[in-house]
Amino acid sequence: MAKTKKIAVVGGGIVGATTAFYLSQKNYTVDIYDDGVGQATSAAAGIICPWLSQRRNKEWYQLASKGAAFYPQLMRDLNEPLDDSDIYQQVGTLVFKKKASLLEKLEKIALKRLEDAPEMGEISLLSPKEIKAKFPLYDSEESALFASGGARVDGSLLTKKLIDQAISNGAHYYPDKIALSQTNSTNYLIRSTTQEKTYDTVVLAVGAWLPELLDPLHLAVDIRPQKGQLVQLHLPEDMSQWPVIMPEGEKDIIPFANGKIIVGATHENDCGYDLTPTKEKLNLMLEEAIELAPGLKNATITGIRVGTRAYTSDFAPFFGVVPDHPNLLTASGLGSSGLTFGPLIGHMLSQIISGDSTDLPLADYPVERYIKRS
Ligand SMILES: Cc1cc2nc3c(=O)[nH]c(=O)nc-3n(C[C@H](O)[C@H](O)[C@H](O)COP(=O)(O)OP(=O)(O)OC[C@H]3O[C@@H](n4cnc5c(N)ncnc54)[C@H](O)[C@@H]3O)c2cc1C
Repeated sequence: MAKTKKIAVVGGGIVGATTAFYLSQKNYTVDIYDDGVGQATSAAAGIICPWLSQRRNKEWYQLASKGAAFYPQLMRDLNEPLDDSDIYQQVGTLVFKKKASLLEKLEKIALKRLEDAPEMGEISLLSPKEIKAKFPLYDSEESALFASGGARVDGSLLTKKLIDQAISNGAHYYPDKIALSQTNSTNYLIRSTTQEKTYDTVVLAVGAWLPELLDPLHLAVDIRPQKGQLVQLHLPEDMSQWPVIMPEGEKDIIPFANGKIIVGATHENDCGYDLTPTKEKLNLMLEEAIELAPGLKNATITGIRVGTRAYTSDFAPFFGVVPDHPNLLTASGLGSSGLTFGPLIGHMLSQIISGDSTDLPLADYPVERYIKRS
């Protein structure tokens, strides 16, 4: 059957890759464009644990908890095993608080949230000895709250799999930076250094770079960049069942099955789109992580990752149709939780294009609040 609509998905991070994957299963011609420089998804730490966040915004929490719950479906759609995967696995998360009273308060919040989010799994307060049994590098006197449904995800492996499957469904992938313009009231022109093509529908999943993409259409976007850096280490251990460690501060520790272990990440608001690693910040995070888990001293540093997160002024993400542009869709402002809800947002963008009802009400994440005529 001839493919009907020509769709460009710009951005190959978690939102663009998921959107393209789901669209490629339908009767559309799908082209994916991705510059890749500074991509948040491939730099990300990989923690999926929204339930123990103390953020109070209801819409944010709804998106984050449904986003975490969506992962098992995504893995099934990708034919990826749920219990033994380098991409995504529910290994549990351990959240630390300096004061015992704060940990108890967090436990109460968690147990309340568990009623609506069974995917959190079991909730329990663990002693230092119990923590060490789960995470052998640990050596400290702090207790922690354990949520067995917490997970870790490898953003690079996940987007690679999504894009590979989209390509095997007929999509085309161009590793290019593009510029967007409008040819008439319904069509858009995408121009890269190698080609020019028109599309019926364009999805801008370009994270922190949305303002520069929409500027030629005289649209101003409330998005600012935030730099995030982390350290990647290697340990010759079987860490496939080790939980994610979330202490207070920036030094989260995320072990992966293949010997990779991540420490990070920073949240730097005054650096624009800069991607230069800063040794002092990275060393500080590493030293703090080693205090909690001295076994990390034996790990080898294998890399540094730097990416740019996208934030709105009220820290809320948005997605849907761009005002006055019925064939132009976007999502941005995913902040530091975009790996958690990026796949669900990508799924919803594909639902909007197909005319299906969306997993969550679009009115709760209004694009028009953040994109205005300039
Ligand atoms: C260091 C760090 C740690 C993080 N840790 C976590 C975590 O543990 N858990 C969690 O849930 N979230 C985490 N996040 C947040 C999460 O990574 C992001 O919110 C999410 O990946 C954003 O996805 P996105 O698809 O919107 O944007 P991105 O992943 O940034 O993708 C946008 C893509 O668009 C491309 N692009 C931009 N302009 C153009 C153009 N003109 N032409 C072509 N392509 C273009 C970019 O190059 C990029 O590849 C972290 C982020 C960072 C930086």
